[in-house]
Amino acid sequence: MCGIVGYIGDKNASDVLIKGLKRLEYRGYDSAGLALINGHLDIVKGKGKVLNLEKQVNSQKLTGKIGIGHTRWATHGEPNDVNSHPHLSQSGKIAVVHNGIIENYGALKKKLIEQGRTFHSETDTEIIAQLIEEIYENGSTHEFEKALQFALKQIVGTYGIAVVNSDEPDKIYVAKKGSPLLLGIGENEMFIASDASPIVEYTKKVIYLEDGEMAVVTKGNYEVKTIDDVTLTKEIHELALSLDAIEKAGYPHFMLKEIFEQPNSVADCLRGRLRLDNHTIQLGGLVDVMDQLVNAKRLVIAACGTSWHSGLVGEYLFEYLAKMPVEVEYASEFRYRDPLIGEGDVLLVISQSGETADTLAAMREAKAKGALVLGVCNVVGSTIARETDAGVYTHAGPEIGVASTKAFTAQVVVLTMIAIAVGQQRGTLDDAYAAKLIEELNRLPGKIKQILEQNESIKEMAKLFTYAPNFLYLGRTFNFPVALEGALKLKEISYIHAEGYPAAEMKHGPIALIDAMMPVVVVAATDHTNDKMISNIEEVKARKGRIIAVTNEENTEVKELSEFFISIPSTEDCLSPLLTVIPLQLLSYYIAVNRGCHVDQPRNLAKSVTVE
Ligand code: GLU
Repeated sequence: MCGIVGYIGDKNASDVLIKGLKRLEYRGYDSAGLALINGHLDIVKGKGKVLNLEKQVNSQKLTGKIGIGHTRWATHGEPNDVNSHPHLSQSGKIAVVHNGIIENYGALKKKLIEQGRTFHSETDTEIIAQLIEEIYENGSTHEFEKALQFALKQIVGTYGIAVVNSDEPDKIYVAKKGSPLLLGIGENEMFIASDASPIVEYTKKVIYLEDGEMAVVTKGNYEVKTIDDVTLTKEIHELALSLDAIEKAGYPHFMLKEIFEQPNSVADCLRGRLRLDNHTIQLGGLVDVMDQLVNAKRLVIAACGTSWHSGLVGEYLFEYLAKMPVEVEYASEFRYRDPLIGEGDVLLVISQSGETADTLAAMREAKAKGALVLGVCNVVGSTIARETDAGVYTHAGPEIGVASTKAFTAQVVVLTMIAIAVGQQRGTLDDAYAAKLIEELNRLPGKIKQILEQNESIKEMAKLFTYAPNFLYLGRTFNFPVALEGALKLKEISYIHAEGYPAAEMKHGPIALIDAMMPVVVVAATDHTNDKMISNIEEVKARKGRIIAVTNEENTEVKELSEFFISIPSTEDCLSPLLTVIPLQLLSYYIAVNRGCHVDQPRNLAKSVTVE
């Protein structure tokens, strides 16, 4: 998540940092800041654009040849001036910028407060600065580097960090675990960045840090070691990419990058929430409202577009795992119907941006009528996040492509976790099955990776369907919403007319459309409806429809009946949407590319729909 840049050399550091942060803007962010060392530490930071930061830096006429900068995409604590990075230790001597999530920050913060430390922000990041200083001042070492290593060993979670200490004004310390970080080697100067885009114009020589590694960077020199203090000799790589390609991490479009990020975004969403030791789900954001949710008369889910589809998966999950009555509503319809909702009911709204106007209006309506309102959003501190009574963030990282991909899977992951937690508390989900689901959720990032390995064959398949005028998507049970989502993805980016249907509904209408020109995507998780699905496939085949099946390798009957086959690793039926949707995203993407469509910014669509 988000951006880090650092500089140490003879240039004016703030110029390099500001320029670098601008280069990182494409990643999406909500605040920006920097720390400069010039005998002492100067910090400038705040909510908003890098341009505001630049104005502040210029007006304060700050100088310094060493510094670190950050663009924040909030995960803990809303985007505001105080929560923006860098974060300082109590004495103000140590400044830290951080990408990632510190999972055990709550426990560490509590301990540090008991030790007399005062915190100013709501972030997880602030504990890094405070913990290093606590060890450095009062702990087992007065050597800064050792204190940093000891602190990192206590931290659970992900981080790419850059740290400066005004006691050592000629060094920048960096470390990495789970968030990318690289060093750029210049002539008597060094650069640090979370990806190559801020430094490519200065140097092409880079070193990529690996998890568990750190570096001590000085002007024109560096030492890389493990956090266990084993010195390493690192390979120096030559950057060959253009700036544009680097921003997209080598992918031609953000959408493809985001599709491929899903093993990580799903893992980020699960991080710190799955307890594998006692097979429970920990959702900090819902603790205070869990009783109300568990005892709710009914649950209404309201959303729009792709989020509405994840809501529909949510309905199946809640009914199956928590035996709760659920209705899923288009936010825009719900709001204008004078809905029957009130005390004892729960409205859960889902929105990637947290700013979707229709969803916000539905939320306000239900709140005014006395319902408990919960939110599932990706953007921390967004309006929905602020106005709901409680909620869960999806932590999928910034999504730039207009057609949602990784936000959808993260939303489904969050809904699954809530349904499991509620099912456990309502006693509708037995311990053994809950344990199985939790273990399986933990395996999903690996399974998504396996599906992505079929990228080339899906790309080939897409060539055959590039000029199809229509598409039909069929699914049953948990995969009916996936059929809807597959069709929506294709419509959004390739402008091909597509419809998603419950497979059995086909015979009540759409079957009239099927002929040799009609590709039919069948999303068939091998569940108790498999035999019925096979009959539906036969019905399509009898009318010469061209069948593309998305199902498990073991589903030989479906495989034999289908013209094209995309294999999905086996999983629990109720988790299968998290896998079956992935090839549908890739198929839409490649068809759209073949048709020369503007994949990342499809015509007429906006990323965050803030009008009703
Ligand atoms: N977890 C940190 C925060 O919320 C870092 C977020 C980021 O990667 O930008 O401040």
